[in-house]
Amino acid sequence: MVEKNKPQSSADEVELEYKRLQVEVMREQMQERSDQKMRKQIRREQALAEQKKGEEERLRRQRVCKHRKGGRDNKFAAGNDQNYSVITNTYPTGQICVSCTRCGKEVWRPDLALKKSDPEKYKAMMAEFREWVNYPTDNTPSGGKVFEITAA
Ligand SMILES: [Zn+2]
Repeated sequence: MVEKNKPQSSADEVELEYKRLQVEVMREQMQERSDQKMRKQIRREQALAEQKKGEEERLRRQRVCKHRKGGRDNKFAAGNDQNYSVITNTYPTGQICVSCTRCGKEVWRPDLALKKSDPEKYKAMMAEFREWVNYPTDNTPSGGKVFEITAA
């Protein structure tokens, strides 16, 4: 009985060796691909962790920020001026946002639709928005007025 995979001639041996090499190359390519996937996955996880850390730091800064101008020693959060470091932006869509230029916190006027869907949240957002929009500041609001006609 002849073994099925036994080389019959030198040509068979060459073909077999060629196939072995092909398989080897394919294995290497697959390994490389899986290594790349692994490295990508690790990079993605690192980026996500960085992002999370940055977000936590941002929220921490926003919690300690007084949202006021002034303060000594470049301690951005410890503003002590009577003026707040906030700017009111009115967007063409009608949305209004008050933001702190020190910590980046944004307080949006809640959408009216929220009043029906989540009255509690709407109330809380509206209260915070009212508080923020009434902060005294010498900053100029933006977007509220497109142009103004003044006497020459
Ligand atoms: Zn702030």
